[in-house]
Amino acid sequence: MGPLDAILDLVLPATCAGCGAVSHAWCPRCAAELVRAGRGPKPLRADPTPRPPGLPPVHAAAAYAGVVRTALLAYKDGGRRDLRSVLAPLLVCAVKAADPGGDAVLVPMPSRAAARRRRGDAPVADLVRVVGEVTGRAVADMLRPVRPLVDQAGLDTSRRQANLAGAYRARADADLAAGRAVLLLDDVVTTGATLAEAARAVRAVGAHPVGCATVAATRRRPLPCRAGTHSGSVSS
Ligand SMILES: [Zn+2]
Repeated sequence: MGPLDAILDLVLPATCAGCGAVSHAWCPRCAAELVRAGRGPKPLRADPTPRPPGLPPVHAAAAYAGVVRTALLAYKDGGRRDLRSVLAPLLVCAVKAADPGGDAVLVPMPSRAAARRRRGDAPVADLVRVVGEVTGRAVADMLRPVRPLVDQAGLDTSRRQANLAGAYRARADADLAAGRAVLLLDDVVTTGATLAEAARAVRAVGAHPVGCATVAATRRRPLPCRAGTHSGSVSS
């Protein structure tokens, strides 16, 4: 949100990013629905099938559907960065499930360089920064793509793995002593290829990925009547 948006927000009523209702950026009805969606069966294990080699255990706060999907798309691609505060509590839940009582350092998945340039920021890293503030955990934004990546949306599992093989480099972070536990964080997990590549990259600099946490997980079981409806900016 730029300075102009901030000014407009003061004089114009906001629109709910979930249902379009005027007067709230995220209306109470959608807020209640989001809380319900995040209250799924615990623990929220969301390991993809098949599981990419080297992928640490994955926890997700909710299914990538309904109001959760709407909020994530609006946050990432719709310029609704005000939804950071709406989505952060879900990611906090997943972090607590992935590393209960631990102090693993939070490592966000990197934006593609092109997306970083186009959008001028890194929405996942921004979300993870809020989660770090809420949980009191350290955040290390230590991963970067080493070459341009094809957009993952529309790629099948093997193509995603090929697209991502050796794609990330972790800089050795001053706060990360060798063997330090890290949690890998993303907005959505689909095949797990992104998180598996991130795990490889952080291991290469001596860190120890103990788990992964995401806001949401796509359902990988076959859904014949809805096949092909999943799209959007899911990156993993
Ligand atoms: Zn709403």
